[in-house]
This record gives sequence, structure tokens and C-alpha cells, in this order.
Amino acid sequence: MLTQAPKGTQDMLPANAYRWQSIEETMRRICALAGYREIRTPMFEHTELFQRGVGDTTDVVQKEMYTFNDKGGRSITLKPEGTAGATRAFIEAHLFAEPMPCKMYYVSCPAFRYEKPQSGRLRQFHQNGVEVFGAKDASVDAEIIALALDVLKANGIENLKLAINSIGCPTCRQAYLEKLKEYLQPKLSGLCKTCQERFSRNPLRILDCKEDGEKLTDAPSMLENLCDECAGHFEKLKQYLEAAGISYEIDSRIVRGLDYYTKTVFEIITETENGPLTVCGGGRYDGLVEELGGPATPGIGFGMGVERMIMVQDAQNAAPKAPALYDAFVVTMGDEARLEGMKLVRELRAAGVRSDLDHAARSMKAQFKYADKVGAARVLVLAGDEMSQGMVKVRDMNGGAEQLVPRDQVVSFVKG
Ligand code: ATP
Ligand code: MG
Repeated sequence: MLTQAPKGTQDMLPANAYRWQSIEETMRRICALAGYREIRTPMFEHTELFQRGVGDTTDVVQKEMYTFNDKGGRSITLKPEGTAGATRAFIEAHLFAEPMPCKMYYVSCPAFRYEKPQSGRLRQFHQNGVEVFGAKDASVDAEIIALALDVLKANGIENLKLAINSIGCPTCRQAYLEKLKEYLQPKLSGLCKTCQERFSRNPLRILDCKEDGEKLTDAPSMLENLCDECAGHFEKLKQYLEAAGISYEIDSRIVRGLDYYTKTVFEIITETENGPLTVCGGGRYDGLVEELGGPATPGIGFGMGVERMIMVQDAQNAAPKAPALYDAFVVTMGDEARLEGMKLVRELRAAGVRSDLDHAARSMKAQFKYADKVGAARVLVLAGDEMSQGMVKVRDMNGGAEQLVPRDQVVSFVKG
């Protein structure tokens, strides 16, 4: 127990840090190109925020939240997703008073869900995502979809399929849900236990059940029951996607199941050898700001799973190469050389050269071995006669070539 991480959690170990960092940098770079700025919200919020913001009837709130009372007796929940916290912050900081739209992104945002751990499903995972407030035109729906695809492609991920749907607005959805329930009622006893529970609280979600979805392909479609406004929005979305050169599939089984989603919902799915894997999910939530007590403001966003992106990169051989730890490793012999080595490393680092010297009091031979193991591109030797003559021996660890460089030129030599 003591040395075992809790079930459903993962360490990010130093050797893999560059994977996360590269995914974070990609997200920051692409978001900045489109005028998105970063937001970071607390890791926990009042439980009520998620009950209202994610929705009491959802699986996440009903079964998956990490909820506890703090010492002050408040009910606190570790955030299961990013949208509710960002929306709370948007209202609390009166960001609605600033020029709209308000476009923001987050990177490596931890999310906590008490799920059955399995491949691609953790209890603490991380999301990159965006939220846009104050933009009701479907152009922004297309913008965030394009952005998500750009991010995934820039991370080397291929075989991406975009599936879009509309789940309407409270007006047209209510009438549709009645039709859907009429259709589902006689089939209810043949559905899984979860879906039987969902029937009264969240019937839409039955459509994307992994077990039952296949049996329900002839269910009435939300798309055929949209009101004029929602249907018009969906038409415009398709036009904007086409204008942006983005191909899509319409999948009426994508419902996303959060109470305040309205109109556009989408998922980006990639093929892996273990079958399809959803790497990104998002949608419009035009009712959320108002539901949480702010002025009526449209909103839209997506979240993408960082661990899933890493899984897919591995599966598709798209992982970036690990950068070398050091450009130069300073090998020394004797106390005097170690002091000189300390100075040289300070100079190298000040010049932007990633470098180090031996800190484990190893023999010269062992220092070379170490430098080779950690993949230093060059070794700089401070030892013997060469050192007393003011020279440094520079060895190229890839080719093995050696050359003597005057001590006062060695930093610029290595840099060049
Ligand atoms: P799923 O249908 O796979 O349960 P979801 O609809 O619950 O997904 P979202 O709430 O849309 O997922 O979260 C956005 C993204 O976060 C998902 O597309 C996925 O990449 C990732 N994700 C969701 N749950 C987990 C989890 N338990 N472990 C790892 N990644 C997750
Ligand atoms: Mg889920």
C-alpha cells in the first residue's frame, strides 16, 4: 500500500515529462494563435456547483464525484471536469462586462472521477480544453472544432473522425424527449440496468450507452425534431465546417449527457488497435451561465484527455523523440579540476547550454559511462596536462572525434 499509488492514478515520471510538456506547449501555441488566454481554476469547488453546473441527473454527478466534507463542514468536490469551474469564475469575476467573446483555455487540468479503472479510464486524469463565452454564432462552434483538430494533428495523432450532432434547446428537446420515451418504454426491460435508471432521469443518455446503443438505431432522431432556430444553427455549423475544409459525420447517438448542453455536441474519435477511442468531447451550453446565476450568456467548449492523447501517440508511433538531457557533460579528474568544472558548468548554463558535471564522486571512466548513458552529446574533459596548459578536450559522443579547445573559447565552441 505504502508504495502503491491509489487505483486509477498515474505518476508522470521525469523520463516522460517531455511528453506532457510537448502536449502542453502545442495547446498553448495553437490557442494563442486564435486569441485564447489561459484560465486556471481551483482543483475543488463547492459540490453544489457541479450538481447545478454538470447536472444532478448525470452519471458524473450521480456516481463519479469525489465529494467530502471539509473541516468547516462544507461539502467539497474535486472537479470532475473543467467547464463548471470556468463558468463560475466567469460569473464571479464579472468577465461578462468585458468585450465578448471571452475565449479561454486550460492545460493539464486535473479531473477526478470515481470510475472503474481500465485502459484509457483513470480516476485522476488531465484535460486540455477551451471555453468560449458570449458567442452565439455557429462560426465559433466550427472554430473550436478546428482548434481541437489542429491540436490533435500537431501532436502527431492521425485517423481522426469528427462526429457532430445537435441536441436542441430546452424548448424542442422537451417535446423530443416525450417521443423518445414513448419509443423506449416497450423496450425498457431489454435494456441494461443503468439505462433502466436513466429512463426517467436522463433518457437521452440511453442513446450513447455502449451496451444498448446498437439496439436503438431506429430511435427517433433529435435532428429531425429540432426547432427552427436549432435547425438553422446546425445548418450553419455544417456550412462553416465545410468552409474550413473540415469533414464530419453526423451521429445522432452523440448526446454528451450533461444537462446544460444545448445545440451543438461533438466528439473526436481516433482508431486504435483496440477499437475506437474518444480523445475529445465538447458542446454548446447556452443555458449554463444563467443557470449558475449570471446574465444569459451563450457558451461552448471542449475537453480532451491528455492521457488518452499519449496513449494514441504511442499506439500510432507518433510520440515525439525524447530530447537529450545534456548538450555537454563535464568530466573532471582531481579536486582542482572539479572546482574548474563547477565554474565551466556555470558558464555553460549561463550561455544556454544544458550541462552538468559529476556529483557522485565517480572515477573518470565511470563519468564517461554516465555521460553516455544519459545521452550527453559532448563530453568536456578537464584533466591532466591539457588542463594545466589551459586546454579542454572535447569529445563528440556520437562520432567519437576529439579535439582540444582553449578553455576561454570552449563555451562558444560548444554553443556553436
Ligand atoms: P467517456 O464517454 O469516454 O466516458 P466522457 O463523455 O465522460 O467520456 P468528457 O466528460 O467529455 O468524457 O471528457 C472529455 C475527455 O476527457 C474525453 O474525451 C476523454 O478523452 C477524457 N476522459 C474522460 N473520462 C476519462 C477518464 N476517466 N480517464 C481518462 N480520460 C478521460
Ligand atoms: Mg465518462
